[in-house]
Amino acid sequence: MTETMVDLFVIGGGINGAGVARDAAGRGLSVVLCEKDDLAQGTSSRSGKLVHGGLRYLEYYEFRLVREALIEREVLMNAAPHIIWPMRFVLPHSPDDRPAWLVRLGLFLYDHLGGRKKLPGTRTLNLRRDPEGAPIMDQYTRGFEYSDCWVDDARLVVLNAVDAAERGATVLTRTACTSARREGGAWTVTTKNSVTGEERTYRAKCIVNAAGPWVSQVINNVAGSNSTRNVRLVKGSHIIVPKFWEGQQAYLVQNHDKRVIFINPYEGDKALIGTTDISYEGRAEEVTADESEIDYLIKAVNRYFKEKLRREDVVQSFSGVRPLFDDGQGNPSAVTRDYVFDIDDQGGAVMLNIFGGKITTFRELAERGLHKIADYFPQMTGDWTETAPLPGGDMPNADYEAFREQMKANYPWMPRVLRKHYGRLYGTRIAQIAAGATSLDGLGRHFGGNLYEAEVTYLVQNEWAQTAEDILWRRTKHRLHLTQAEQAAFTEWFDTQFQKAA
Ligand SMILES: Cc1cc2nc3c(=O)[nH]c(=O)nc-3n(C[C@H](O)[C@H](O)[C@H](O)COP(=O)(O)OP(=O)(O)OC[C@H]3O[C@@H](n4cnc5c(N)ncnc54)[C@H](O)[C@@H]3O)c2cc1C
Repeated sequence: MTETMVDLFVIGGGINGAGVARDAAGRGLSVVLCEKDDLAQGTSSRSGKLVHGGLRYLEYYEFRLVREALIEREVLMNAAPHIIWPMRFVLPHSPDDRPAWLVRLGLFLYDHLGGRKKLPGTRTLNLRRDPEGAPIMDQYTRGFEYSDCWVDDARLVVLNAVDAAERGATVLTRTACTSARREGGAWTVTTKNSVTGEERTYRAKCIVNAAGPWVSQVINNVAGSNSTRNVRLVKGSHIIVPKFWEGQQAYLVQNHDKRVIFINPYEGDKALIGTTDISYEGRAEEVTADESEIDYLIKAVNRYFKEKLRREDVVQSFSGVRPLFDDGQGNPSAVTRDYVFDIDDQGGAVMLNIFGGKITTFRELAERGLHKIADYFPQMTGDWTETAPLPGGDMPNADYEAFREQMKANYPWMPRVLRKHYGRLYGTRIAQIAAGATSLDGLGRHFGGNLYEAEVTYLVQNEWAQTAEDILWRRTKHRLHLTQAEQAAFTEWFDTQFQKAA
């Protein structure tokens, strides 16, 4: 078995692991990241897809978390304007739930806590007069509108991994860390690739355990260590239905149980509705949405909207497990969404365990995590990610609209919907996908919807895509736009083309 020496060995290719790997590689550390499945296959492709301050966390006095998250909105929008964009949220006021003064106070704080520059502030709506109120039942007369941001969560993970790799990191997917042992002031780490069965050994000065819902398993079973901290697993489910209102605004409705449900425009003609908050004890790999959660979400929507959703409207559901830091709260909705580090540095070999964290705060989390281990790496350079674009996000002034005009001029032959698809997923890297093409024929085989061979080749060569599912569901959302027959034909083609060749 070959043995490679590295500074940092990162376990977990979700948003936190990918973010730490990117930041560390950019500081000049040698980095290996290993992910047991596909990048973002854990919680980081199953989120509500918002870069948000978290309005409801104000009720739990999480001011530091909300402030940090609010600031991150504009930092991340500048870094990746193709996959992160502003969204307006309409909150119909229900006199049965939180009083209007409390909502107004929350929104005032939301507007002023986080150094908002680009995003518009809150406004009050007359739901009977303003067009945003049109889909809402007549009994709701007053509402509020505020800003947060949308993010393609799985792509955010992949872009961090791509940047990490371009800065020298080694990214291993479908490679589990099976054991980590302290030997002579460093770690001996063993990995196993689930496709080839190949085992490898690394020597690392430091391990970052970013295994999300599996963080405690890695501490106890992989490293044979222990921690005073615990992870609390809280399941959350979403449903996808055909979009049932006009306009690009999202909605946020309050439920009788004090929880809030997001109803967001999704993938053009769909809506993404979530989420639930349920304590979870099972295997994180096997989490699915229960019928009772689907009913709960449908009921919450139907309390507010004129158009009534039915069970058969649900085209898909998905579920994820929040790896929260266990702060001893009974109610799953009240458990802190903040992150906590745990440093274990026995015998000079350091392990940084990450508990909690949000998609929104991954960059800050990575930066602070690296500060925690800075003493072990005197060669490490300073903070850099706050102003650095992510791959494809290198647009002048982070101006997506100007970039869109530029695409129109550069690819006049490309249908508008395809240009939008490439622009939103790949930003300036559209040039690599469409390289040399002067017509649709130049993009190779067409599989339905907006899926052409050129995109598949790009994803296999540049983004670690290894299965049809990686492409249809995590790197892209083609699965929502291709028929069953088209998906089956694509999968068959992909398996013949790539998997058998591998
Ligand atoms: C329903 C729901 C809605 C949410 N909505 C939002 C939102 O709108 N905005 C927001 O900011 N946050 C949101 N979050 C929170 C956010 O999604 C999570 O905090 C975040 O994705 C956690 O990322 P992670 O990297 O810690 O974990 P993960 O994404 O789960 O990554 C951990 C990875 O480690 C890998 N792994 C585990 N063990 C090993 C091993 N031994 N070897 C190698 N790899 C291993 C796993 O396969 C996994 O891919 C939401 C979460 C849920 C569940």
